[in-house]
Amino acid sequence: MQRMTSVTIVTGGSRGIGAATCRLLAKAGHRVAVGYRSDHAAARAVVAGLETESIAVRVDTTDSASVRDLFDTAERELGRITGLVNNAGVGSPAGPFTELSEQDLRHVVDVNLIGYVLCAQQAARRGVAAIVNVSSAAATLGSPNEYVHYAATKAATDTLTVGLARELGPRGIRVNTVSPGIIHTGFHAGIGDPDRPNRLASRSPMGRSGRPEEVAAAIVWLLGDEASYVNGANLRVSGGL
Ligand code: NAP
Repeated sequence: MQRMTSVTIVTGGSRGIGAATCRLLAKAGHRVAVGYRSDHAAARAVVAGLETESIAVRVDTTDSASVRDLFDTAERELGRITGLVNNAGVGSPAGPFTELSEQDLRHVVDVNLIGYVLCAQQAARRGVAAIVNVSSAAATLGSPNEYVHYAATKAATDTLTVGLARELGPRGIRVNTVSPGIIHTGFHAGIGDPDRPNRLASRSPMGRSGRPEEVAAAIVWLLGDEASYVNGANLRVSGGL
């Protein structure tokens, strides 16, 4: 019997954890749709480095029509979609809760929660085999004095996984979470603290922050056949944080 080709959509695939995941997925034989919001050149560069037939697709995950287009394009160009990595996430300037602006609050909730739900909905409707939601260790740490609202959206992600694993399991769709600790990516520059992974390295019991590839390995494993009985799990990749 011929094995079905894996076609996986990775949101936020143009850099950081998403880009590392695209690379590892392609190594494992997946065709990859690299979702990106603004940086076309970065997304193109990721695609150019992949050894399987893959494409870059612009998407704003907070917009349902744009999300539908992403899935339609991926299906048309690469074939039946078998997996989703819900990874595109944002923070906002780190600081005390009392200083948080309504605009930043709404944007973080929009991308980190609404965006994940919209993408998971498309994936479920099209009968993928697996979804991995990229959460954060912040969900259980709470991120006091930095971004409690961000941590709260990640806790919501964890609950989304539990509910979807139980709702979609009977349809043969596995849903799991990966929860990174502090990882060396551009995310920290985006919240105004580019040196955060070095400065807070000692917070981890392993004395260092993580690399995007170390998170990608967990994501790729959860998407694959080796994890065929893993559903509703939350795999923490945080060095023990
Ligand atoms: P990153 O380097 O900042 O990359 C974020 C990605 O998300 C970019 O590709 C960006 O696209 C995309 N994106 C942002 N808003 C979007 C939107 N509205 N629609 C579509 N794409 C959008 O982030 P990262 O560090 O790799 O983080 C990836 C995931 O891991 C996030 O969910 C984050 O919360 C989580 N995480 C990260 C860490 C960490 O320490 N880095 C720790 C725990 C959890 P453009 O570049 O085109 O804007």
